[in-house]
Amino acid sequence: MRGALGGPRLLLRRIREAMAEPVHAQVRLDKIVVHIASNMVAEVCSVYVLRDDGRLELFATEGLNREAVHLTTMRSGEGLVGLIAETAESLALSDAQAHPAFSYKPETGEEIYHSFLGVPILRGGNTLGVLVVQNKARRTYSEEEVEALQTTAMLLAEMIASGELQSIVRPGNDIALRRAIALKGSAIADGVGLGHVVLHEPRVIIKQLISDDPAKEQARLDVAIEAVRHTIDALIDRGDQAGPGEHLEVLETFRMFAHDRGWLRRLREAVMSGLTAEAAVERVQNDARAKLQRRTDPYLRERLHDLDDLANRLLHALTGESFVVANEDMPDNAILVARTMGPAALLDYDRKKLRGLILEDGGPSSHVAIVARALGIPMVGDVANIVDLVEPNDAIIVDGTSGEVQLRPQPDVEAAYGEKARLRARRQEQYHKLREVPSMTRDGVAIELHMNAGLLVDLPHVAETNAASIGLFRTELQFMIAPQFPRMQEQLALYKTVMDAVPDRPVTFRTLDIGGDKILPYMAAFEEDNPALGWRAIRIGLDRPGLLRSQLRAMLRAGAGRDLRIMFPMVATCAEFDAAKVIVERELTHLRRHAYELPRDLKLGIMVEVPSVLWQLEEMLERVDFISVGSNDLVQYLYAADRDNRRVSDRFDPLSPPVLRALKSITDKAAVTGTPVTLCGEIGGRPLEAMALIGIGYRGLSMSAASIGPVKAMLLALDASEIAAHVGALIDAKTGAASIREELRAFAEAKGVPL
Ligand code: PEP
Ligand code: MG
Repeated sequence: MRGALGGPRLLLRRIREAMAEPVHAQVRLDKIVVHIASNMVAEVCSVYVLRDDGRLELFATEGLNREAVHLTTMRSGEGLVGLIAETAESLALSDAQAHPAFSYKPETGEEIYHSFLGVPILRGGNTLGVLVVQNKARRTYSEEEVEALQTTAMLLAEMIASGELQSIVRPGNDIALRRAIALKGSAIADGVGLGHVVLHEPRVIIKQLISDDPAKEQARLDVAIEAVRHTIDALIDRGDQAGPGEHLEVLETFRMFAHDRGWLRRLREAVMSGLTAEAAVERVQNDARAKLQRRTDPYLRERLHDLDDLANRLLHALTGESFVVANEDMPDNAILVARTMGPAALLDYDRKKLRGLILEDGGPSSHVAIVARALGIPMVGDVANIVDLVEPNDAIIVDGTSGEVQLRPQPDVEAAYGEKARLRARRQEQYHKLREVPSMTRDGVAIELHMNAGLLVDLPHVAETNAASIGLFRTELQFMIAPQFPRMQEQLALYKTVMDAVPDRPVTFRTLDIGGDKILPYMAAFEEDNPALGWRAIRIGLDRPGLLRSQLRAMLRAGAGRDLRIMFPMVATCAEFDAAKVIVERELTHLRRHAYELPRDLKLGIMVEVPSVLWQLEEMLERVDFISVGSNDLVQYLYAADRDNRRVSDRFDPLSPPVLRALKSITDKAAVTGTPVTLCGEIGGRPLEAMALIGIGYRGLSMSAASIGPVKAMLLALDASEIAAHVGALIDAKTGAASIREELRAFAEAKGVPL
């Protein structure tokens, strides 16, 4: 390095010494800039730190007027320093004043300096500040000098992140790192959680940044890279990737990076400049992040995540630290933060300590969302960049009802959410008190409230809510979180456990409803242009009868000597039900032949969720013992609007004449034959919608455990004949209205029906 006194390693050592000294933060920073200036033979070295108002403040300088420290500020994007902060890219200029972005700050006295080298101070892809050296003479900074300054900037990033500089900020000028941030994602699982950040697959905290023995660090790095390559190869060879983060494609990308010469060279160079192997990984990753984060191409940004994961694996290999936080190390109010998470991983945590979950990926139909809802953990998904924004143990609030996340909240924000959480808890308590109250409208119409379930963690809720039965047991959920296809014996054990858990109430098992958005991780993915209209549910069951047969056998055996209800999803024709029934009868014959005890009573039914069924309901009702309306699918097919596509999923209101007329035609026809009807889609669990459903004749609704209290509170105050007259008039009026939501809301308000 040209003219450097002792090169970058000596500089790093000096800085390390300065960092270890027990001195005031300002003194330390002042010493560091002196070391940098002298080592790099520069007349000026300055540190600018990003404040939470978005301005960059001069925090220390050697060479410029010292009076300007803590006074000179600039906007991000203003001047050369602002440009570096904005682009997160280094800038080396031999004639700084000729650069179009140059802006002159007279109080600093910098007009006499011609050459300029500035680098961003980066951490986790975020810019925390800018480090600058300047020379009077017009000179060109070498590549090595740029790299040395970038490495030095990393040490400053640690110092800023440590919070030490907090002691020298002026009141009201907080540094950006600690600022409160309000973020918005998708509301996935209801509830409000206040707590502290726990990173799932935590970042390794690097304790030692600088090393005196590059050869030793290089050897450590080589061993770790080899180990990571091996695990990736093994995962690819085994082909049984566990979670969403470990798809084959992702692993192949990992493998590509792990053998990438440029990446490996940059790691080596960083080690040679005096960093420990861990710090070298972080340093190279910081650069990659800064570069990739500015790309708008989603494919490239996705690769950044892969590279992040790879770097994290490498750090874990270097330190031997575990990938999961041990339960005893978790705070009592943990809010998990992760980029993605598999459903099984969430179940591994101690439920009692979890207050919330926030993911960068993970929409409402992700598998982990299903588990979060079953566990009653508030969850927000689609929060961009959250993993980079948080520090472990940061205070954080997750509002799974609104999709809001408050990171490092101000006291008033925290108080407001605390109040919201308390209100919610109080309301839950009131609902709990309703548990023993008979579920009946004011005018004495009994409404059965059943519970939807799908996981073992759901089962205790039946007793807690006093649900009439498990009205829908979605068997696919267990299949979705299992690492491989559950065998018949495993299924049998599961269904038995479910029935044993609610010995006094019926359980309606639904056969596998996979396909569409419900993908089993271990089943070969098949591409369909229109998965919601594709090969799914009963269609797969009838085309692959082996699957359906083993599931039916497990259900029939689990139901030995008891009442058993089995329901088939996505039935579109009577012939499909007939064919499924034939398989059930064959299984019964098989069990009889092998002297197994049979169910005491067996009822077979279908989900009414394909519109074709509405116009052959009479024929269908002759065949089935019961029906359950799957309004989630039925509404998506009636409006031709994908329930998982956020652009259209809220476009049409189910509380509209066409949907309510269709739903009413079902209860009307079933009343003629006396066939039991329930509705088990999401609308059954929303008080306003449930009120309308009671108005059109529904007397059984199946919903998530959390909805039972609010729906019961609503119906206890409702007059069934009044709502029937009201909804009847609204849907008979030929107004062409797309929604009658407001009219129904007004009715509820006028009648004092709580929603
Ligand atoms: C429905 O479609 O309404 C339903 C209950 O089934 P799922 O949501 O599992 O498709
Ligand atoms: Mg459905």
